[in-house]
Amino acid sequence: MYCQVIVDIAHENVARPFTYRIPEGMLLERGQRVAVPFGYREKEGIVLGLTEEAGMDPARIKPVSRALEAYPAVLPPLMTLAEEMARNAHCPLAETLRLMLPAEMRRERVRVKTRKMAELTADREKAAEAAAAEKRSPKRRAILEMLLRESPLPAEEIALQVRDPREALRSLEAAGLIRMTEEETLRTPAAGLRLDNAQWHPLTEEQQEVLEEVLPSLERGGGRFLLHGVTGSGKTEVFLNAARRTLEQGRQVILLVPEIALTPQMVSWFRARFGQVSAVLHSRLSAGERYDEWRRIRRGEARIVIGARSAVFAPTEELGLIVVDEEHESTYRSDHHPRYDAREVAESRCAREGASLILASATPSILSFAKARRGDYLLLEMPRRVADRPMPEVRIVDMRQELENGNRSVLSRELVRELQGCLSRGEQAMLLMNRRGFHSFVSCRSCGYVVKCPQCDVSMTCHVSEDGEVSGGELRCHYCGNTLPLPTECPSCGSRFIRYFGAGTQKVQQEVERLFPGTPTVRMDVDTTGGKDGHARILEEFRSGRARVLVGTQMIAKGLDFPQVTLVGVIAADLTLNLPDYRSRERTFQLLTQVAGRAGRGRIPGRVVIQTYRPEDPVIRMAARQDYRAFFEEEFQRRRISLYPPFTVMARLLAQSGNEAAAERAAEEMEERVREALAAHPEWKKKVLMMNRELPGVRYLRGQHRRQILFKLLTGPETEALCGFLTETAEAAGGEAEVLFEYNPVNMM
Ligand code: ADP
Ligand code: ZN
Ligand code: ZN
Repeated sequence: MYCQVIVDIAHENVARPFTYRIPEGMLLERGQRVAVPFGYREKEGIVLGLTEEAGMDPARIKPVSRALEAYPAVLPPLMTLAEEMARNAHCPLAETLRLMLPAEMRRERVRVKTRKMAELTADREKAAEAAAAEKRSPKRRAILEMLLRESPLPAEEIALQVRDPREALRSLEAAGLIRMTEEETLRTPAAGLRLDNAQWHPLTEEQQEVLEEVLPSLERGGGRFLLHGVTGSGKTEVFLNAARRTLEQGRQVILLVPEIALTPQMVSWFRARFGQVSAVLHSRLSAGERYDEWRRIRRGEARIVIGARSAVFAPTEELGLIVVDEEHESTYRSDHHPRYDAREVAESRCAREGASLILASATPSILSFAKARRGDYLLLEMPRRVADRPMPEVRIVDMRQELENGNRSVLSRELVRELQGCLSRGEQAMLLMNRRGFHSFVSCRSCGYVVKCPQCDVSMTCHVSEDGEVSGGELRCHYCGNTLPLPTECPSCGSRFIRYFGAGTQKVQQEVERLFPGTPTVRMDVDTTGGKDGHARILEEFRSGRARVLVGTQMIAKGLDFPQVTLVGVIAADLTLNLPDYRSRERTFQLLTQVAGRAGRGRIPGRVVIQTYRPEDPVIRMAARQDYRAFFEEEFQRRRISLYPPFTVMARLLAQSGNEAAAERAAEEMEERVREALAAHPEWKKKVLMMNRELPGVRYLRGQHRRQILFKLLTGPETEALCGFLTETAEAAGGEAEVLFEYNPVNMM
């Protein structure tokens, strides 16, 4: 017998499978990990398939060294998925296979954790006799007595009562009374999480109706739903009920959340209802925890998997349901190589594994809602909040007016008034500021110079020390993490009139603390959520009521359920609206609607204050009314007229190089190549609505100069062939520049 092995090296030249002989007595299956001789070394690989035929001179075929696990680490449908993804992304199979395994598992960087157990081997009578006769060593006697009460026991537990029991255990083992064994243990992440929302609510009429559609499809398998429910309509309760039914059928559930910040709440609700059958998978776990959770899922001990986008690859053998919560979030798309969209992967898995799919959001993406209208998904709607709670009352504040009235603070007078009321009534408030740091940029009053990152074409943000002292601060680049000391004079003209402008989360927090001394506040942004429990710690501080005001970036906008929050303030609503991206309107609408939805989720109705310099903007107005339908219709029309997705595909060839001329040359050469190809393929040419060689929004990034060719393409079978050609063009690009082909890039900058 022979097997085909994909060796774990991502290099074009070794992208094909290699044939190895299976030694006598070794049993292997597709998807199993093996160690194989490769060149002069040993490498890890994954069995792609088994054959009887060597296909070449058998004498030249080397044998598999050993199997790394006794079971296939990559399940058959996930093998097929990896193959499909490699085909679509035009990348080596070794790369997509990596997505299916915890990174630590490769090259054996984590081990199975074990603990020592002591177990009684002598029969009870004999052990009791030995204990009674044990005059010389009180330790041995105590150990035997403990084991007579309960056996086996972990050695560490024995050590709680018997100090330093090792010697005594050894002599008891030598006397044949006990046996020491190693037992595998699992590291459980977030074990100390407090459990919330434990009781099953009687369902609202709307939840009931939605479940009447969903539950029968779980029995049949293969339903596809878009659940559009307003903020606070109780979508999670729908997921919990659907999960319960899936478990009853002996199948498993994957629940995706868009950000790690949302896992603690979700895990807490699911653990409260289902106990330890739920597992967590995300990148902030320790290597050991992630590996152990992965194995718990692979063995079927964990029946519910909760995690961020990569959890869509969880090794569930009996998948029955995938839920994608907040499906509109761009975090479901991975920008790293190999690129993927977790929603597409979920759909593909569900189709292949006979599972059902629920995409859910209060603000579905234009693409998903359009698909639902076309009949690709069954649209389910929950237009009202639970328990007749009203939607929050939203007011728009014109910040130009504030300035005219002499208010230069980041907080409008109206928001300050509302905060005053909210805090004096003992309620809580959330403030959204979609930019971290203190000041958003530094500029010279004399010559207009703006301090930009030397590595990137973006202005640097001023961060102050945690006690609010500007002197302890620095400038940070939010693209590459580069830092510089704060300048005291203009680096360009030497003037001392260098000033700080704009505001970030730090400034907002400081302003609240200045206006309301003694009010405990917390801040949640990239700077405060380091470490694996960073998010959980801050959220718990707020949830418990110890902190009264939560200031944060878009991290706080979605999904969180804090019933005591009665006031939400949006400090600068137009920040996202000005980005040069055709999706900036959609993103602004989603962000404002979602964050407004955090108010009034408990018994007391909520209020929202949106501060903006563009109070008349229709997107801001529709978000204030929480009118998704109106927004969808308008945006859909706009995209139809100006030919943006879903009516077209945006794509780009991006050339990057440390050498500007090389980037420019690569872009020119590619343009030439593409023009020739289009001339040779009129059927491709018809699909190209626009092709522009240009400077991208960010001209250099992390020290790389960038050039792009932007495409707007009509969709169709020929488009796929054209994109295949563009991918190959990117890969073949030579010279000093690196070229990427991006299909509907997450970020157009
Ligand atoms: P959504 O995700 O739709 O914004 P959640 O699932 O977070 O809403 O639910 C909002 C709140 O309503 C939660 O505190 C939840 O416990 C509560 N809730 C959900 N369903 C019910 C119900 N049927 N009866 C009472 N409260 C409910
Ligand atoms: Zn200057
Ligand atoms: Zn930078």
